[in-house]
Amino acid sequence: MSYKYQWLLFDLDNTLLDFNASSKIGFKSLIEKINPKLDWESLYPIYRDYNHQVWDEREAGLISHNDLKTKRWRLFFDHADIEFDPSLANDHYFYYIKNKPFLIEGAIDLLRRLKGDYRMMIITNGLSEVQWNRLRIMKMESYFEHIIISDEINATKPEFAFFDHCDKLMVSPDKSEVLVIGDTLKSDIKGANDFGYISCWYNYYQTENDSDIEPDYTVQSLADLARDVLEINLFQD
Ligand SMILES: [Mg+2]
Repeated sequence: MSYKYQWLLFDLDNTLLDFNASSKIGFKSLIEKINPKLDWESLYPIYRDYNHQVWDEREAGLISHNDLKTKRWRLFFDHADIEFDPSLANDHYFYYIKNKPFLIEGAIDLLRRLKGDYRMMIITNGLSEVQWNRLRIMKMESYFEHIIISDEINATKPEFAFFDHCDKLMVSPDKSEVLVIGDTLKSDIKGANDFGYISCWYNYYQTENDSDIEPDYTVQSLADLARDVLEINLFQD
């Protein structure tokens, strides 16, 4: 059997690991520590919006990873009228992010099925110590030839430099033989498209694409990715 792609480049958060699940329990624990009377569920979307905003600034190269860690909490606490040290908040939240990973449904089944048939790489915008720790806890490292973390290479998806770094590690394969899979249009899909790789949007949030970024494929689950894009049945060897 021949395969359409030589390389599969997977985003990590909300593609293979359920970052949102870890984020929610970390946030809940923090708010309960600050004041158990606060309603964490109604506050969470406010934090999440600030976190996205700050990550947008990071991905646009406007702030450093270090600034990001405290700025999101400062903005959220100001909005919610909470007095708490942003740095302590980040440490508390971070413990959960770093040590309590959750899998996206089907992730390990998929990786097991693909190993040996495809060469695989993780491409993630994130913090080095956090991403490594979570990959180790989930015993995922062995599936990948390379694990590329933005924090370590000083380049961030969708920057050309990020994908160029990956390309050199793969020894510049034919670009049509590289499939990038990720949940974020403006980093994973835009980066892949700009570089010339094939892109698959894992529409984790099941949202409309109201951007001008056009993925080659769109899937709603990892099972869809296996069946519709890679043309394999996850549950059949
Ligand atoms: Mg992601």
